[in-house]
Amino acid sequence: MSANIYAIIGLASVLGGAIAISAPAVADEASLREIYEELVEINTTLSVGSCTRAAEAMAARLEAAGMPEAAIHVIVPSEFPAQGNLVAELAGSAASEGAILLLAHIDVVEANPEDWERDPFTLIEEDGYFYGRGTADDKAMAAIFVDLMITYLHEGYRPPRTIKLALTCGEETAHHFNGVEYLVANHRELIEADFAINEGGLGRLDPDGTRVYNGVLAGEKVYQDFRLEIRNPGGHSSRPQRDNAIYRLAAALGRIEAYEFPIEFNSTTRAFFESLAEIETGQAAEDMRAILSTPPDPAALARIKQDPSYNAVLHTTCIATQLDAGHAPNALPQRAAANVNCRIFPGHTQEEILRTLTGVVADDGIDVSFVHSPETVGESPPLTAAIVDPIARVTEELWPGVPVVFSLLAGATDARFLTPHGIPTYGVSGIFADQATRNAHGLNERTRVQSLYEAREFLDRLVRIYARGD
Ligand SMILES: [Zn+2]
Repeated sequence: MSANIYAIIGLASVLGGAIAISAPAVADEASLREIYEELVEINTTLSVGSCTRAAEAMAARLEAAGMPEAAIHVIVPSEFPAQGNLVAELAGSAASEGAILLLAHIDVVEANPEDWERDPFTLIEEDGYFYGRGTADDKAMAAIFVDLMITYLHEGYRPPRTIKLALTCGEETAHHFNGVEYLVANHRELIEADFAINEGGLGRLDPDGTRVYNGVLAGEKVYQDFRLEIRNPGGHSSRPQRDNAIYRLAAALGRIEAYEFPIEFNSTTRAFFESLAEIETGQAAEDMRAILSTPPDPAALARIKQDPSYNAVLHTTCIATQLDAGHAPNALPQRAAANVNCRIFPGHTQEEILRTLTGVVADDGIDVSFVHSPETVGESPPLTAAIVDPIARVTEELWPGVPVVFSLLAGATDARFLTPHGIPTYGVSGIFADQATRNAHGLNERTRVQSLYEAREFLDRLVRIYARGD
């Protein structure tokens, strides 16, 4: 099925008579806001924070709501005492049905209060927005999932499927420690599930606040860092030599800059641009259609690639991100090295990209290698009707006429530790945001107040449909 059909499915349910929209109960909002505030105000940065404190705080809330102690696990690796994780389970009534996993990370990227207009570790509500580090990435989903579990406990809700919650650490610092990777390796049984819901899918708002589409992530590019290193005998800088490590590295980086990986589409990205062609207007819509022809129209492609978000899902991309060279200002450099970060289009291996980069560098004196061992790469999660239809249905219930658009993520989430290991993971949140002002990882990170509460309603309805297991 191509994505357009999904958009049409959305429409069909309108024709089928949309269900009355019930605004989230005020009680739900208050309890959610309280949890959100507690999470945002616990600093969970790698430098000075503690995920363990946040995991314990959420565990205490679940226990207070009546979850049996045996169903709550705070997992703190002995070698990473501040990188604690929480796994909790609401047992289902049908043992034959597999579980669903609600996944959110509780760690956040660094934030220096001096750089922020407001304290990044205080939840501040201002002009219709929540401000604070993690308000967008990823404590909104974490708080919603905890609040839903508490609501289900209060209701005595026992759907056929077991509902599991995992609040993990290390998503932002995977090469230090990653909670999902750790749980898969050491506590697989706790998170075992038929599929998982995770961050990454966002509703798109345009600058005037109109909902454009509800975005769902169905796959992500593969993250890989490569190291380019060249050594040289060096010498005294008063007698410069033609062969200079920094110049040779710079020239190689120039060749990487000039190199473009071939443009390609997979079923997800083709569907993405097909959907956008229906949403966009004028030249943009024409271009979206024109790049889908074979071969893609070069002029349209050149225009579309101007947008870094679109360019990022049209092919593999590699970019220099760090440099490290020379050992003294008055000495010829004996070593020059660079980090090149690649986001690999699905279907290509890290080894293949290593070979391509080595060819582009075209300098036997420069060693091109993996910075970290390549992660297991898997297929994109399957877009089955059982996953897709409920998303389209609830989107239509809450936001009539707003299409669902499936996309490939250029960045990376913890789905990469689950999907290749047999737990297909989908990025879907129902949180509508204007990408430009969301500022995830940036200064003054924020989430729209209305978007948080709406997303709670969206995810609540979605989880209840999935948990029925029919
Ligand atoms: Zn995140």
